[in-house]
Amino acid sequence: MYSRTQNDNGTFNTMCLDCLRTIARSVENETDLELLEMRHVCPEKALMRLVSAKKNSERHGRVC
Ligand SMILES: [Zn+2]
Repeated sequence: MYSRTQNDNGTFNTMCLDCLRTIARSVENETDLELLEMRHVCPEKALMRLVSAKKNSERHGRVC
């Protein structure tokens, strides 16, 4: 989930809606935007993965 905005000079900014960080500013085309968004390692998503992995292992632990 990314929020893209366009500047007056036609360049783009993109922001991650999960961690609310600006990923890139003044990007000239959408291909570059997509690349930069793909490269973004979201700390919020990493945290969510960690929490759900922990939940799964806890659940697993109780079953055993
Ligand atoms: Zn993010």
